[in-house]
Amino acid sequence: MRKPLIAGNWKMNGSAELVETFGRAFAEVDLPSSLEVLIHPPFPYLDAARRAFANTPLGLGAQTLNPLHSGARTGEVSGQMLREFGVEYVLVGHSERRQLYRENDEQVYDRLIAALSVGIKPILCVGETLEERDAGHTEDVVLRQVGYVMARLEPEQRRQVTIAYEPVWAIGTGRTATPEQAQQVMAAIRRYQAGFDRELAEGLRLLYGGSMNASNADELLAQEDIDGGLIGGASLKVDDFIAICQSAG
Ligand code: PEP
Repeated sequence: MRKPLIAGNWKMNGSAELVETFGRAFAEVDLPSSLEVLIHPPFPYLDAARRAFANTPLGLGAQTLNPLHSGARTGEVSGQMLREFGVEYVLVGHSERRQLYRENDEQVYDRLIAALSVGIKPILCVGETLEERDAGHTEDVVLRQVGYVMARLEPEQRRQVTIAYEPVWAIGTGRTATPEQAQQVMAAIRRYQAGFDRELAEGLRLLYGGSMNASNADELLAQEDIDGGLIGGASLKVDDFIAICQSAG
């Protein structure tokens, strides 16, 4: 039985006040214990979030990390540092990082390994652009991104990875993949994983991301291979985010 996971990616948004608002709201909310919920705030809010979320079901995630533990990398943050702030999960390969910061599959892999080396669980983000979908290459692109990383991992490492399928054309656009489109790709990812290990594939958590909100979460999360969501815009509105969590519970 896979534990559902709802992860809120605040990107470069939010404030100290929003951290407090989430801490207060989630201290009151009744969520099933079978559900895991994360907030990935910007780095400067991690410490405040750790304190504000202490008596809530909210866990802490980061949005990226540098592959090195320390060194001359101005502006960067390492996994070791994140660990000190109680970070349990980190996003790697988000399409904004792939597109705006030119992170390729090799760099995504390096970041993922760095996370695993300090005991942080990676959420590997993959997804196709609109051009790739229109050209009929969706599964090739997604399975290449998944495969580049997964094929290089030891079985024990593979078990630590969550995969978020996020069609690039659905991120921040208000345009969501239909539940059927999402399910088709997620099922392909699970089948691909079964090629390594059937048990691993059964236990692999797959999240959908791309304009998921309080109105469409129910039908997306009802799909057989969708075990949760990675939520951008709607994770900044506490009531909407709680509603999505309730859809997953
Ligand atoms: C994301 O950034 O991972 C995301 C899914 O964003 P949005 O929900 O705003 O599309």
